[in-house]
Amino acid sequence: MAVDETVRQHKFLLDESQMPTAWYNIIPDLPEPPPPPLHPGTHEPVGPEDLMPLFPMALIMQEVSQDRYIEIPGAVQDIYRQWRPSPLMRAHRLEKALDTPARIYYKYEGVSPAGSHKTNTSVPQAYYNAVEGISKLTTETGAGQWGTALAFACALFGLECEVWQVGASYDAKPYRRLMIEAFGGEVHRSPSDLTNAGRMLGANPANQSGSLGIAISEAVEAAVSDPTVRYALGSVLNHVLLHQTIIGEEALKQMAMAGDDPTLIVGCTGGGSNFAGLSFPFLREKMAGKINPRILAAEPASCPSLTHGVYAYDFGDTAGMTPLMKMHTLGHDFVPDPIHAGGLRYHGMAPLISHVYELGLMEAQAVPQTECFAAAVQFARTEGIVPAPEPTHALALAVREALKAKETGEETVILTALCGHGHFDLAAYDAYLNGRMEDEAVSEERFAAGLATIPVV
Ligand SMILES: *Cc1c(COP(=O)(O)O)cnc(C)c1O
Repeated sequence: MAVDETVRQHKFLLDESQMPTAWYNIIPDLPEPPPPPLHPGTHEPVGPEDLMPLFPMALIMQEVSQDRYIEIPGAVQDIYRQWRPSPLMRAHRLEKALDTPARIYYKYEGVSPAGSHKTNTSVPQAYYNAVEGISKLTTETGAGQWGTALAFACALFGLECEVWQVGASYDAKPYRRLMIEAFGGEVHRSPSDLTNAGRMLGANPANQSGSLGIAISEAVEAAVSDPTVRYALGSVLNHVLLHQTIIGEEALKQMAMAGDDPTLIVGCTGGGSNFAGLSFPFLREKMAGKINPRILAAEPASCPSLTHGVYAYDFGDTAGMTPLMKMHTLGHDFVPDPIHAGGLRYHGMAPLISHVYELGLMEAQAVPQTECFAAAVQFARTEGIVPAPEPTHALALAVREALKAKETGEETVILTALCGHGHFDLAAYDAYLNGRMEDEAVSEERFAAGLATIPVV
């Protein structure tokens, strides 16, 4: 069989010396600043002191920073180099299977030790906590990727790590729990009886499958009750989105190597961190008038905070312990169906993504999970990577757009974040491949009940 010349330039690799050495903070480049978080009691903007029981000062300062670039500490760069710069691939074989003129690129974050993009923020978070003398971090985990990433980072910096894993995912994914334990982390099924929030919320049978909101309440409570312990969040907050921008900074250089400009950037959004990480550096170039891609968020139809939620101040957790954040939310009481993309089952959206969405700088679409897995299987059979359930939402929209390009003939260059692999999510593939996966329809009553819990501010 002759060599197929069209698939030769499949991979765009940077060498270590080309790894970005600063994260990009989009806030100073936006036409308006995002609304500040509010104290849950006084409804006044929170100050750094309010956040000190939760986070180390370095991260609090990043949360409110007005600096466009923030240097990545050398110790963090050293660890990043184990898997960064990550590869950018051109999906030639998927393009062929779709018979599309669209060019499809994916930035692959599954090469990290935890198998997802989460290590881009777990490593600096553990680093700053260790520098400030903290002994232990608590956190929640949905699908298990964040818990794995944080346990890995804590092991490197000699911190203890305690994880509340959403009940549905704890039951369905024993191997994620074991990987967290292999890295030295301790895992509890949430809701647990170890915290007041867990005991209170766990008393309601409707909460037995757990949710990210409930697990956050438990991890926050455990952190604020001990002065040597802090809490770490794997998404949503400004500093987390900041750390993920290394993805987009690398991808900008790699698209230049490929000699192509994306017309569409599409990523999945749970809390918004991988999407922001890929898209914000491109949005900077777009706001500067250099490129003009559409920027599109893919969210699950069963938890559609951007397309079905409201833009309002709400709690980040179910028990109402976190500051109030202005964001797209389905209501902090909303417990999504236990869909397979556990990492996308969050009632809210990053305040920064919500703000960018309100400014009209990006779009969003909701996708049902069977369409996602159809795209995932097609991707696996052509590109050879079994995606995590979360990025299959972005792949489904990439496929829709690639097929549209075939009809319209419009020049289409798609860039997507393949933010993790699905090696621990094969139960989801089992459900799909054996005809047991359904598209859950959320009733208007359930949406209304969730929205009714949003506090009046
Ligand atoms: C955590 C996670 C998500 C969802 O979180 P974002 O902050 O929206 O990125 C998506 N995909 C993977 C692989 C994850 O681990």
